[in-house]
Amino acid sequence: MYTNDSCHSGSANHCIACTVQQCANHCGKEDYCSLNKILVGTHEYNPTEDQCTDCKSFRKR
Ligand code: SF4
Repeated sequence: MYTNDSCHSGSANHCIACTVQQCANHCGKEDYCSLNKILVGTHEYNPTEDQCTDCKSFRKR
């Protein structure tokens, strides 16, 4: 079974800053994502502010 174990020291993607430390893809000490790319979406019909957007690559730690 595939498990995402890419979040180790040195694997922070400095192109994707993120403060969601509860995400399994977060890189711990640094406020960056460990993925090569992420998907951002929205749960709103007509998004008007940043709270309307979501990281669809979020995975529970
Ligand atoms: S997958 Fe999304 S929420 Fe998770 S660490 Fe990366 S950018 Fe942050």
